[in-house]
Amino acid sequence: MTIDEKYKRAGEIISTAGGTPLPVNDTLIKLLKFFINEDELDFIAAFAEKKSQTMEQLKQSSGLSEDEINKKVKDLAKRGVIFNQPNSKGIMVFRLLPLFNVGTFEYNFMGKLVIDDRNKEIAGLFNQMFADLNNMVQDNYDVIVPMLMAGPAIDRTVPVFENKPKSEPVKIVINEKLEEARDRVVPSQRVEELIQKFDEIALGHCFCRHYEDIKGTPCKQTDARETCFTFGKSARFTFEQGFSRLITKEEALKVLKEAEEAGLVHKAYHPNFDTTKDETSICNCCRCCCGNGVDHMIAPIANVTSFMAVVNDDLCIGCGTCVKKCHTYAAYLNDDKKARRHDDRCIGCGVCAHFCPQNAITMVKGAERIVRIQPPKRK
Ligand code: SF4
Ligand code: SF4
Ligand code: SF4
Repeated sequence: MTIDEKYKRAGEIISTAGGTPLPVNDTLIKLLKFFINEDELDFIAAFAEKKSQTMEQLKQSSGLSEDEINKKVKDLAKRGVIFNQPNSKGIMVFRLLPLFNVGTFEYNFMGKLVIDDRNKEIAGLFNQMFADLNNMVQDNYDVIVPMLMAGPAIDRTVPVFENKPKSEPVKIVINEKLEEARDRVVPSQRVEELIQKFDEIALGHCFCRHYEDIKGTPCKQTDARETCFTFGKSARFTFEQGFSRLITKEEALKVLKEAEEAGLVHKAYHPNFDTTKDETSICNCCRCCCGNGVDHMIAPIANVTSFMAVVNDDLCIGCGTCVKKCHTYAAYLNDDKKARRHDDRCIGCGVCAHFCPQNAITMVKGAERIVRIQPPKRK
């Protein structure tokens, strides 16, 4: 096989390592050349059949010795190509990461930002890759979008419960009719509670905002960049590879509080999209840069929430703050200048309630549901 053929083969393997299969084209191959050296291509091919392997399995599939594997993994993990952490039984597992969501793209832009020719070229290629993906979805909209709409939820909203202008708590009402009886672990609904669960907390930079910084379109909502948390083994991985730094619970809470002040939305991520399992990470997302937000969506957004915003008409003065602050365009003013929300777009983030000058918004808690928002179809 020639080197070009080996890159194509690596592209085919990596393109199926994540949830979204990528077109294997020139853009993808050019990107791979930034992250995988020619002498690492045979090793990547060892992941063709199985994307996660133990050392014994990898010795078989690659034909390499333990020392050779460790050396290759050490270099590839630093570039966000391979994830290397022990599983719950303490056995080291090596996982080939996808190019994005969550993989090389995220880890490459999670560290301290360097705006140089290399990163500019990488950002330009990712930009092209996202455009290619968008075209693929749009060209096959009627087939792909309904299929994706049935997929699992990617993230879960953890709401804000403080009203800023009045320094009061936001009113929370439990909708008993909707509150489902369950015997399973209920995920944390407060960021404070979530932070207390973890001994290892790492803080990295927001890769979406870094990516936009490199492209010359910086965030309109915040100057904060260090806002992405990883926990447990994800924290160990991002810290060991130099993508993040370990922080205390106190610092974590301070960053989360500042994120709320900036109107960012807390989004938690769980292993295999299973909200009964402990969170792997939490992001603090802005509306303008978030790759998983409505302004950039290529595929549908699917978000887990248990809350919905409800307005008290007696208190609402129709100022429109909630409409401006809402990330999903769920909030609007009706003809009587009273705030309303589209149920099917409300991810229960509480940002509207946080900024309402009247503290007129109540967060109603019901059963866990998935909010799915479809990308607009090209005209
Ligand atoms: S998902 Fe949100 S916080 Fe995470 S990197 Fe993207 S914008 Fe930043
Ligand atoms: S921010 Fe509060 S007062 Fe202003 S429109 Fe929204 S609900 Fe009404
Ligand atoms: S209306 Fe918008 S800002 Fe308010 S909770 Fe729903 S999604 Fe969040």
